[in-house]
Order: sequence, then C-alpha cells, then structure tokens
Amino acid sequence: MASSKSARRVYSFGGGKAEGNKDMKELLGGKGAGLAEMSNIGIPVPPGFTITTDVCTEFYRRGKQLPKDLGPEIRAALAKVEGIAGKKFGDPENPLLVSVRSGARVSMPGMMDTVLNLGLDDRTVHGLARRGGNERFAWDSYRRFVAMFGDVVLGLKPEHKEDRDPFELILEAKKHQLGVKLDSDLPVAALLELVGEFKAEILRRTGLSFPDDPMEQLLMAIDAVFRSWENDRAIAYRKLNGIPGDWGTAVTVQSMVFGNMGEDSGTGVAFTRNPATGENEFYGEFLVNAQGEDVVAGIRTPQKIVEIASRFPEIAGQLERVRHRLERHNRDMQDIEFTIERGTLYVLQTRTGKRTGLAAVRIAVDMASEKLITADEALLRVEPMALNQLLRPVFDAAQWRQAVKDGKYLAKGLPAGPGAATGRIVFFAGDAEEWRKRGETVVLVRHETSPEDIRGMNAASGFLTAFGGMTSHAALVARQMGKVAVVGCDALTFDYKARTMRVETPQGPKVLKEGDWISVDGSTGEVVAGEVKTTPSEVMQVLIEKTRKPEDAPIYQQYAKLLGWADKVRRLQVRANADQPDQAEVAVAFGAQGIGLCRTEHMFFGAGKIEPMREMIVAENEAERRAALAKLLPLQRADFAGLFRAMGSRPVTIRTIDPPLHEFLPQDEPGIQEVSRATGKDVARIRARIHDLHESNPMLGHRGCRLGVTYPEITEMQARAIFEAAVDVRQEGVDVHAEVMIPLVGTKKEIDDQAKVVHDTAARVFGERGQKVSYSVGTMIEVPRGALAAAEIAQTAEFFSFGTNDLTQTTFGLSRDDVGTVLSSYLEKDIYAVDPFVSIDRDGVGALMRIAVAGGRFTRPRMKMGICGEHGGDPSSVEFCNEIGLDYVSASPYRLPIARLAAAQAVLRQGQLAAQAARRKVEGVVGHLEHGVRTLERRVEKGVRRLEQRVESGVKQIAKALSPRRKATRRVRTAAKRPSRTAARRREKRAR
Ligand code: ADP
Ligand code: MG
Ligand code: MG
Repeated sequence: MASSKSARRVYSFGGGKAEGNKDMKELLGGKGAGLAEMSNIGIPVPPGFTITTDVCTEFYRRGKQLPKDLGPEIRAALAKVEGIAGKKFGDPENPLLVSVRSGARVSMPGMMDTVLNLGLDDRTVHGLARRGGNERFAWDSYRRFVAMFGDVVLGLKPEHKEDRDPFELILEAKKHQLGVKLDSDLPVAALLELVGEFKAEILRRTGLSFPDDPMEQLLMAIDAVFRSWENDRAIAYRKLNGIPGDWGTAVTVQSMVFGNMGEDSGTGVAFTRNPATGENEFYGEFLVNAQGEDVVAGIRTPQKIVEIASRFPEIAGQLERVRHRLERHNRDMQDIEFTIERGTLYVLQTRTGKRTGLAAVRIAVDMASEKLITADEALLRVEPMALNQLLRPVFDAAQWRQAVKDGKYLAKGLPAGPGAATGRIVFFAGDAEEWRKRGETVVLVRHETSPEDIRGMNAASGFLTAFGGMTSHAALVARQMGKVAVVGCDALTFDYKARTMRVETPQGPKVLKEGDWISVDGSTGEVVAGEVKTTPSEVMQVLIEKTRKPEDAPIYQQYAKLLGWADKVRRLQVRANADQPDQAEVAVAFGAQGIGLCRTEHMFFGAGKIEPMREMIVAENEAERRAALAKLLPLQRADFAGLFRAMGSRPVTIRTIDPPLHEFLPQDEPGIQEVSRATGKDVARIRARIHDLHESNPMLGHRGCRLGVTYPEITEMQARAIFEAAVDVRQEGVDVHAEVMIPLVGTKKEIDDQAKVVHDTAARVFGERGQKVSYSVGTMIEVPRGALAAAEIAQTAEFFSFGTNDLTQTTFGLSRDDVGTVLSSYLEKDIYAVDPFVSIDRDGVGALMRIAVAGGRFTRPRMKMGICGEHGGDPSSVEFCNEIGLDYVSASPYRLPIARLAAAQAVLRQGQLAAQAARRKVEGVVGHLEHGVRTLERRVEKGVRRLEQRVESGVKQIAKALSPRRKATRRVRTAAKRPSRTAARRREKRAR
C-alpha cells in the first residue's frame, strides 16, 4: 500500500540486488540511487543501505533529532549487510566496518561530510588486524577513523583557514619526534599512541570520551551527516547553484572495502570520457595502497588511469567493462569512484559527470553519432549558457610565443578548465572577492583549493593550483563554473605569509608576488608570467574572423552540428539586436534570421553625427529643427542602407528615436562651448536649453513616441531615411523588408499619430522614386497600458515587439539603473527568486505579455510578435516566449547560439510536457473506464444474485407446490370443499 511504502525509511542494496533504483534520487540521493542501480545490474558494489532524504526532513522538523523508531530499522538493514559481507558489526573477531556517506539529490561535491572506517574500537581493531593479516593497516585505519570522527561528528574540524586541524598537529608532532617524513613510515607503536592521543585531545576539547560502542558511533555519525546539510559550505553552494534548502540529504551506510591493504590494493576516480575536452577516452587517476579521499585530498600525486593496465592488467580490463556498462546503462558520461581490495574491484559511486561546456557539446554530439542517445536528447544535454565557452577567447599565439621567448614561461600543469585567463595573482579566496569588487581581474593561485573557497573562486577569472589532479576540487569547480583552470602544477611552492610563490621554471627558480600578472592557458595547462593578449576562439575564427576553414576546426564542426539540429527543432525564429552593418554581419554568422531591434539613437553618436543632432535639439523652432534634420538625413540613410544590404531579404526592424533628448547634449563646459560655436547660439541660450530639457524622472519623461508626437519632423526625417535607403538597396536587387517600430506606445492614438507620419512619408518617397518596397509599421509593447490596450493598438500596429527591459521597469515601478542595492537584498531574502531584468518575471510581466498577445491576435489573428529586450538571450525567457506563442526572439549577436539552442529545448520540453499530460489524461480515462467496469461488474453481480435468489425462491415455491404430500392434502381439501359447494348449489336450485 502507498502509505506503508512512503513510510519506508531504509533501503538496502548489495549481493546483486537492491530495494531502490536509479530513478529514486529524490528519496535516496544521487549516491544512494546510483549504488542501488549498480547492485541491480551486477556491478560489484559493497553492500549497504540508504536512509532517505525524508528522514533528513523529519530530522530537522524534530529540531535536529533522529526519529526514535529508526534504530530497529537500521539494525535490520545492518543485519542484511552482515549477512552479505560475512562479518558482524562490533564483532571483536571479524568486525564489519562501514562508511557513513552523505548524498543529496544532485551532487554537491565535498560540501557535506562522510565518515570512513566506522565500527572500530579497542576490541574490534584486533579482529581487523588478525583478519587482514596486517596490524599496521588496522591501526592506521583506527587512527584515521578517530580523527575523522573527531572532525566531522564531534565538530573539531577547524572553521577558519588560519586554524589547523588538531589531529594533524598531533600527527606532525609525532612524525617530528620520530624523525619520519611520510605517514606511511610511522611504526605500528606510533599509530597506537596516536589513537590514544587523539582520544585524549577529543576529551580535552569537548569533554566527551570517544564512543566505544559501534552502534552509538553509527547513530552519532548519521546524525552528523544530516547536520552537515546545514553547514556554511553546503548553504553557500546551494545558493550559488540554486538548490532548494528543503531537499535534504540521504545517508548511505556501506560496508567498507580497503584500498590501503597493501601493494595489491588501491583507489581511484575516473570519468568515462574526458570531462575537459569531451574526448572519448577513459580519464582518471588512482593511487596504490590508499584509501578513498586520498585521491581528491591529494596527500600524494596520483597516477593516470591508463597506468593501471601495467600494474593490474586484469583490473584494467574489468574497469574498462564497467566503464562501458555504466555509460551504456546511464546513457551519459559517468564519474566513478572505485577501490581495489587485494586484487578485487569494487565500485563505490557513479554519477553523471560534470563537464565543461566544450566537453558537453562534444559528448552530446558524439553520443548521438554513436546512437547512444537521439539528436533531441543531445540538444537537451547542453546547457545553453555553456555555449559561451565555445566563443571564449584563447591566447594570441604570437604574443604567447613572444612571452616564452622572453623567458616568461613558468610551468605546466593539467588543463582542467579550457580557455585563456590573464590577471593579477591573489593567493587567498577572500582577496579574490575583494580585488574583484575593486574591478581587478584576478587569477587565484594556491597550493590547492577547498570547498570554503567557492565564493572567491567565483570572483576569479581562473585558478592555478600546485596540487591535485583532474578530479581535484579546483578542477571540479572550474568545470562547473566554466572557469579557466590549470591544476597539479607542481613547480609551485608557496609562502602564504609573505604572499609570494616560488616557481621552478626550466630556467631556474623565480619568485612571483601578490598582484603580479600571470597568464594561464586552461586548454594546454601552460602558464607564463605577465599579461598575454587573447584572441578569438576556434568558432569565432571560423565564423567571424574567417581566418580558419571549417574543415580544420573540429570544435566548430561539433558546434555547427548541434546548432543545426537545434534549428530543425525550434519553432521560434531568432533575430539580432544590431545597429550597424558590421554587427549585422556577425549576427548573420551566428544564425540571425532578421534584425529585431536597430536602435537609431546609437547611430547619432557616430563621428559627424552628434553635431547636427545637437543642433537639432537646441533648435528653437520647427524651421531650425528641419534645417538640422536635413543634415542628419543622408547620414541616417547611409546607415540604414548598410544594414539592409547586410541583411538581404531578412526583415529589419528599425525603431524611431527613443531616449530623452538631454542624453545627446554635453553636460560639461567645453562641450557647451563647442555646441555654441557650432550653432552660433550663445552659451547662455545653450545652457538654458539644457536646463529646459532637464527632467526629474527622464525614464518616465519626454521620450519614446512622445518625442515623435511633439516633434513629428524627427519621425518624418527618420522614415524618409529608412524608405530612401530601402528604395536604393531595392534597386540594387535586394528584396528589402523594412519594419518601422514606434517605441513606448500606450494608447491607440499615439500609434495612429506616428503611423500616419510614417505612411505619408513612405507614399511620398515611393512616389518621388517610382519604386515601392514592402514595409510595415508596428509598435513596442513596453508600458503596461500598451499591453492592456493591445487589441485597440493592433488596429493600427501591424506587429508587436515586447521591450521587456522597460516593461519590467514599468511593471515593477523599479528603475533598472537604480536597483543595485534593492536587488541584492531582495535576491538574498528570496523576495525575488531571480533578477527580473535577467529572466522574465512570468507571473507579473509575463502576465501582461499574455494579455498583449491575446489582445493583438484578437484584432489581427496572424499578427507577428517578438521580443527585443535583453531577455531574448536568456534561456528561461526564451522558453517563456515559446510558450506564449511569440514568433521570434531578438538578442545581441553573441547570444544567438544560446537563443537557438534554448528555443529548441523549449520545443522539446513542451513536447515532453504535452506527452506527460497526454499520458496522464489517458491514464485518467483508463482509470475511469476501469472504475466504470468495476461498478458495472458489481451491479451485474448484484443483479445476477438477486435474479438467482428470485429463481431460487420461485423454484422453491414451485417445488413446494409440486411436493406430493402437499398435492395430496390439497386434493383432499378441494375434494372436501367441492361437494359442499355443489350441495349448496343444489340446495339453491331446489329452493327456486
Ligand atoms: P563525497 O561525496 O565527498 O565524494 P563519499 O561518500 O563519496 O564522499 O566518500 C568519500 C570517499 O570515501 C570516496 O573516495 C569514497 O570512494 C570513499 N568511500 C566511501 N565509502 C567507502 C567504503 N564503503 N569503502 C571504501 N571507500 C569508501
Ligand atoms: Mg564521492
Ligand atoms: Mg524601451
């Protein structure tokens, strides 16, 4: 029954089967679900069980207390593990040890806690030594356990960077005292002492004696892992990644396997494909004779996974099979953890691997070509924003060579996050944040990074670490944040106090200090001192610079394939916001199907244009204004002609002048003098005019169509420039489509007024030139009244374009230019879920858009509609535009690849939703039918039963009637009655 199922709190796995599976991530966490699934499909996984995320929720609801009745369930699950492992928890002879692992729905690498080797105490350690045949290993595991338990469960892990881990200090003292360098050189006696000293330290610091009862250890560890869901790191990580705080973590308790049992043991981490480039190769690292976290934490630098083959050929073969199996089964690139215990392979985790944008594109395209996934799935696999990485610059090859020639080459590490980063060195994450705030570009350089550094890492444009491999924290975060990173660059040593680092370069040692410039190539792993110029990426070189042929550009080819698929799927057209011919060319290269917004005012700032513009503004009557406008006409006409030529037969939307006029005037004295000289008006009059134009709220002032309404000659000049250019280019044989767009319209009469000016001008120009071109006049919907009155406005406007920047400002009553502090505290407090200037506010602004779409299409059923605000390049907003039935989105040229992919994903997701809804409907109908059939059946049954009863009773009656005894009596009775009646009749007769 449903209720008892949801009440289940513990799910077992191991021994080739499991109670959970991979679809239960919400309940079991990613790790728990993955382990269950692997057990089910026969991958060797140590047995264990997972306590659900619901228990975590319950834990917090009860004020951080484990449910009381959880104990028996845990004991029962533990018994199953003991059965499979053939060991007993707490048994001094043959003890079962477990790990207690955290695992949320989505992976939050390193943010929460895990405890290993749990179940050791002063008795079981001897059993472990005897069974393992290795006393050193047993005591080493024990001292690690006590330290980990002290850190994680008893809270001794240092909170601040400056503080040292107390157990590390004791360990160091011990090594110093014995004159040994490596942990592994410590004799057993020293390990034994360490256990005692660690426990004493715990007692000294917490007043608690170390729990000797394994069951108590287990419950305490489970409690601590649940608590770690709310630690600072985890909270910061969730904020950064938009993970809801109420998901909670699951806890997995799993039988330990030991990679530290000797030279025939080891542990490793691997990706089924290269997570930086996407290449189809097994990629990872391992350490011989080491336990779990050693690879990531980096006590020793690990070996490459390919080297496993020479050391453990059999294991290498098995691993290769596991790699293929897991990738085929999960149909995506996997990130796996494994341990080899005395020649036997165990897999401890599998999850979808994090990857760079570059790798995401390649893996999606490759997997579709391998027929592992469909093209549609490939499209859904790439985060649209990740395409940015393919456009990101790389270092200028010549400058880089020069830097190397100049002896600036420093070192080489592992290329963990592709791209080029150049910036000033900072050594601390906190500094990265501060320097960034001051506007500096910084590269964070450290021995290694750790989870508490994430904010600083976010502020840096790249990271460089001395330590760790491709699976280290820095590498992981780089892939996730899309940062440039080089890791494991072991030529670096640090003096954090002096804020310097020493680099062993090929030419000898060099010292760099905080603030020095450094350049890091995340695609090759190379590092040079100084600032190196960057140059466009491969995709940019093919599309924009045209310095590379597509056939010599593999990354470009993957990009083109993916976007080709997207173009086949998407319904929305994409246009570009572009003001100049060169921008229009870039837009076309990125796939623009038209121009959605040409801001004519940008054109007025060009050389030779601002002067007549100012002249026009300071004009004091129409005649003066017209004289100035006449100077602007040829300039605008040339701009528009260039745009029409660049766009060919694609539509071009040109907006008439929009910003308040004072924006064009100088504010400083020399500027004013200049205008005075150019116009021959004296300085005082210019100043007076500037004063007149001053508005206390320009955003809501004399701007948009209001300018055209008060100065129709401006609209007239612009329309003339548009149509003359259109005619000129038409006569060159180009099939021009001009769309004239009137901004900030809120009432029908505004658009009536402006449309009339445009239409009259068009008729005049076409008459003069004896040539027509196709054009339309439409409006921007960017104030609430325009949206609400859309049906009326559409009587005149032939198309709508949503100006969602202004529509957002005016709907919220919030000026985008002044919103800084408000926005950050609103986001912090979750009053706004996202910045409404980045993603369309669907419930408010979006509701107005829906009204406008409905209104516009009520009047003009096929009315063309699009969006030209910044939102046009935001994936979530694109999805919304698809949903409400717009025809196109328009974004800046560089965001068009994102818009194309997002538009395709919107269609696919809508399809998925529709399919889901249809499935639910069908299920509903089937449910109804089943219910109907059941009722019918019941009724028929009832009817049949009633009939049967009736028949039965009828038969009984008949039978009664026919029974011989009755017959006889009746016959006798009738016989007895009949004569008397006859006799009576006779008597009657006689009487007559
Ligand atoms: P994280 O989510 O931080 O990776 P994990 O729970 O995966 O934490 O565990 C940390 C490390 O300990 C990993 O390297 C993992 O492989 C190792 N580990 C966890 N459980 C076991 C186990 N039962 N036996 C051996 N190693 C383990
Ligand atoms: Mg892990
Ligand atoms: Mg606007």
